[in-house]
Amino acid sequence: MTRDYPTARPTDASYLADQPPLPTELLNLPWIDCHNHAHTLSWEDRERYALAGCRSMVMVASGYHWTPYKPVRASDIRFLWDDAVNRRAAIERNHFFEAKLGLGVHTGVRIENPDELLAAMDDYAALDEVVAIGETGVTPSQHVERWDPDEQQAVVQAQMEIANDHDLPVILHTPNTGTESKRSYRDGIGTPGYEKNPGMSTEPVLTGENPALESVRLDIEAAHDAGLPERRVVASHADGNNTTYLMEETDCHLSYTIGHSWLVGVDAADVANAIDEYGPERIMVDTDCANVLRTDPFALKRAIFELYRYGIDPADIRTVVYENPRDVFGLAEE
Ligand SMILES: [Zn+2]
Repeated sequence: MTRDYPTARPTDASYLADQPPLPTELLNLPWIDCHNHAHTLSWEDRERYALAGCRSMVMVASGYHWTPYKPVRASDIRFLWDDAVNRRAAIERNHFFEAKLGLGVHTGVRIENPDELLAAMDDYAALDEVVAIGETGVTPSQHVERWDPDEQQAVVQAQMEIANDHDLPVILHTPNTGTESKRSYRDGIGTPGYEKNPGMSTEPVLTGENPALESVRLDIEAAHDAGLPERRVVASHADGNNTTYLMEETDCHLSYTIGHSWLVGVDAADVANAIDEYGPERIMVDTDCANVLRTDPFALKRAIFELYRYGIDPADIRTVVYENPRDVFGLAEE
């Protein structure tokens, strides 16, 4: 059956059957990026967040890419916290989205005197603009100098205790297992798109069969010892290696990092699969956008459309990109 068109001869339009409805509500759906490093990006990148409809974000200041000295001293991390505290309000005023802070001690580089930092952290956690502790979490290997996993775990637990005292969530840096690449790069060149000097990674401190998952287990153990409810743990960098464990053996929230899919292999399809399997209640999406990585401030907005294309219901998309981070981090209240 063809429809009547005044075209010279039939075009596709003449043959099209009824079209599916357009999800126009997604065009203006507010969204929250609950893990990025937007204070390290360019002004134009932050403007892209605003142009794409970002409602709120959690800018994470916790090292270790931005601390020049190795090993790191407490004062180096403290400077990162202070830099973020210093610039946060101006960022909000420039771009109109809500910009809150996550402050933490990352374990990717050994810190010489972490106790000094942990002692200071309590006062920072009391600030209104600090909505999360992290990112932190045991990592299987460090940059330049190894850090004993027991010591790492103690530093993670101490932060979780502070988070618990202040009713704050903790953003976990869960290590990814990465993707199979077709071919490795020339020695000494490193990974293009990731500004990290190659050859300075230490021998792993976790050597089991699945060190990335073992790290997450150590983090959850630390949460238990700290008395921090699992619901207040947001496992950022959720992936195929840790989703089953986190979903089936814990009550943690899982945040899928989709701002550098080329590096870690996680994208909207993984989020859609997780929603299909477990429902949207404990799932979030973040970008982890940072100046040391090839990352995309439009990634979360794109993922909203991708989730729809992958068959996810608009109400579930809203739960995942807006309501869950809003409720867990206490954002977008006005
Ligand atoms: Zn990050």
